[in-house]
Amino acid sequence: MLNFNDRLALAVSGGKDSLSLLQILSKLQKYRPQTTLTAVTVDEGIAGYRDEALATASENCRKLGIPHHIVSFQDLYGFTLDEIVQKTRYGGHPELTPCAYCGVLRRKAINIGARAICANKVATAHTLDDEAQTVLMNIFRGDISRLAKEKPVTTEVHPLLVQKIKPFCEIPENESALYAYVKRIKFQHTPCPYAAEALRNDMRFMLNRMESKHAGTKFTILKAMDRLRPALEETVLNEGFKTCVECGEPSAGDLCKTCEMLRQIR
Ligand code: SF4
Ligand code: ZN
Repeated sequence: MLNFNDRLALAVSGGKDSLSLLQILSKLQKYRPQTTLTAVTVDEGIAGYRDEALATASENCRKLGIPHHIVSFQDLYGFTLDEIVQKTRYGGHPELTPCAYCGVLRRKAINIGARAICANKVATAHTLDDEAQTVLMNIFRGDISRLAKEKPVTTEVHPLLVQKIKPFCEIPENESALYAYVKRIKFQHTPCPYAAEALRNDMRFMLNRMESKHAGTKFTILKAMDRLRPALEETVLNEGFKTCVECGEPSAGDLCKTCEMLRQIR
């Protein structure tokens, strides 16, 4: 996943996984002086939650001497996530959960943040649990295109898309948490106030139950997906990229998902 001279952006939320990965990458960087590492945090604008996470992320970066770059929904899109939830929930569009908006808008924000610091790769701290949940979520939604595209190292080619890597994709969340406790990393414990509404939460509950009854379930899902992906890619890779007519970013259609959502929100 990593080369000796990468300009790496790490998406840091302030939670245990991203701060554990921050510490590990900052250690590795000492042996690879040509590599640069910058933490990128997205401020979605979630009152009573993200402020604390931002402060925790900044404090960890300061201790490790890692530059910290923040991108916000407010600056990029003109709305905080709290405002988006208010507008959609009470403005006649309650069909999508806050996480559905947040996921799309944050994906784009991280890419823009990574480009702003001239990164050639962006690392995220998705764990084995996250990866197994994502596979099931894409199946439950019937999103075959995303099922094929989500992988530990992205191969989507576009000059405006920074390559994504997931160094923790085979690490169970419990082990990442254990690392954070053993290393006495200060991380945010408060869950996002919108998390309970997310489909991911149901997947987490289901997979944890399966894992405790049938050990190895999460890893089996990840490996099964690795074997299935080449066949799926043949169908979706031909879709290619377009350029969004509104924002100029890479898009599957004429209008990217973010701009489509923003139109609806406005
Ligand atoms: Fe965004 Fe949902 Fe995560 Fe909260 S739980 S930060 S709303 S994706
Ligand atoms: Zn767009």
